[in-house]
Amino acid sequence: MASMMQPQIILLKEGTDTSQGKAQLLSNINAVTAVGDVVRTTLGPRGMDKLIHDDKGSVTISNDGATIMKLLDIVHPAAKILVDIAKSQDSEVGDGTTTVVLLAAEFLKEAKPFVEDGVHSQNLIRSYRTASTLAIEKVKELAVSIEGKSVEEKKGLLAKCAATTLSSKLIGGEKEFFATMVVDAVMAIGDDDRLNLIGIKKVPGGNMRDSFLVDGVAFKKTFSYAGFEQQPKKFLNPKILLLNIELELKSEKENAEIRLSDPSQYQSIVDAEWNIIYDKLDKCVESGAKVVLSRLAIGDLATQYFADRDIFCAGRVAEGDLNRVAAAAGGTVQTSVNNIIPEVLGTCEIFEEKQVGGERFNIFSGCPSGRTATIVLRGGADQFIEEAERSLHDAIMIVRRAVKNSTVVPGGGAIDMEISKYLRQHSRTIAGKSQLFINSYAKALEVIPRQLCDNAGFDATDVLNKLRQKHAMQSGEGASYGVDINTGGIADSFANFVWEPAVVKINAINAATEAACLILSVDETVKNPKSESAQGDAAGAMGRGRGGGRGRGMRRR
Ligand code: ADP
Ligand code: MG
Repeated sequence: MASMMQPQIILLKEGTDTSQGKAQLLSNINAVTAVGDVVRTTLGPRGMDKLIHDDKGSVTISNDGATIMKLLDIVHPAAKILVDIAKSQDSEVGDGTTTVVLLAAEFLKEAKPFVEDGVHSQNLIRSYRTASTLAIEKVKELAVSIEGKSVEEKKGLLAKCAATTLSSKLIGGEKEFFATMVVDAVMAIGDDDRLNLIGIKKVPGGNMRDSFLVDGVAFKKTFSYAGFEQQPKKFLNPKILLLNIELELKSEKENAEIRLSDPSQYQSIVDAEWNIIYDKLDKCVESGAKVVLSRLAIGDLATQYFADRDIFCAGRVAEGDLNRVAAAAGGTVQTSVNNIIPEVLGTCEIFEEKQVGGERFNIFSGCPSGRTATIVLRGGADQFIEEAERSLHDAIMIVRRAVKNSTVVPGGGAIDMEISKYLRQHSRTIAGKSQLFINSYAKALEVIPRQLCDNAGFDATDVLNKLRQKHAMQSGEGASYGVDINTGGIADSFANFVWEPAVVKINAINAATEAACLILSVDETVKNPKSESAQGDAAGAMGRGRGGGRGRGMRRR
């Protein structure tokens, strides 16, 4: 009885769940490995796609690591870190998202036997960090610059990088076609940082080869009123007026309260309303613009008015599209029609409304600043076009990266094998346990070529042995050998133009190592009961209440 009465030290709230130590670390490693296993099969040109069906019933088919990780809805706290690195890889470089998850998972998998044997994780972390620094230095050393080439040559090289990215995607079959398109689009926006200057429009139907690039802006025809059909649908060198105002007959009684003493005054108010709108329309016409676009509605009155004066108009243009027209055609979006000076009008060589599949499109091409491009994507199912858009996004990011820091490394696992060899060699010069850890890190890097083989149905052991042998050659001529996805053997990735920008690898190695070290440094997870559902909270409160009652009862006894 006495022992029951002893006061308990309560450190954490009732219901708090903690687990700690080696067991916790191992459980985290297992969770991360499980996530790695999910995305594993999507790597490379022969990688499979994932169909993700969420609770709202929408279906996504994707091969993109970041997209899959986002949609997986992972609840394990440690495994969530992988979602974050995939996302950051996506926003930093745009490609290599599967690679980064796979590397992180493999680093931890290699660390697991050491943790089981009682190695302190700080030792592992230190060695992993050293290995990562060495690896990154080596990537930089091996990277080949594509600087100093002529524009045409450079375009060709960039298209190779884009093709490598696209080869692992659903649209990989048409990679050359899309790679050229992506390079042209990126070249069009120059070194502007605003990626949204490249528009991607999706039009279901047709063949993917029907996709095309507009050297300007294209957007779907907006909602239009009667009178629209009488407007001309094609202009050469038109002046373009961009507005952010409504051109509609507005009943002013909604803006102000008006008291009338004489019914005849009512007419004057109606007249005033008409005068306001006609005044606005006159000013638009006087500006000399032949194309009027507005972010807000352009009503039936205005549509007819413009039609009578051979002017084209479109209301409710999406903001992004309007801004892209402004950037391309050189105009400024106006919030008032007073004082429209010629400088605020844009222009382009050809404006046209065209039929694309089942849709009408407004197309502005030959824009003076040329700083924008639009890719109109065609293809069968919705999911297909969505995935095509994501793939193009990856390719666009890669080409932009390659334009900015124009160094590339051989892909297909070649660079990974080369760093792995380098680290193994390096580890032999180190005395102590660290040698084993760096060796494991080196082994983990081989996951990329091994997985490329596995996914293609090749004998991974066989191919890897060949690669190891090639890379071990003293002369260094085997350094760019990677998996040959077509024959199941090995081939010179450089010669085959399987190129990746060096930043993709550098960022992937860096992020994956950081994530692995982060997980290795966690030895306790504390789960706060508050994070559970509201119902759980209520139950907890009731439990506490009952506990109080029991306490009183005990004292009485
Ligand atoms: P991630 O999301 O990491 O970019 P991918 O599925 O795009 O994953 O696969 C990228 C890997 O596939 C890279 O290691 C790249 O070198 C390799 N790869 C791409 N094209 C080829 C090819 N034609 N032959 C061999 N390997 C390739
Ligand atoms: Mg990729």
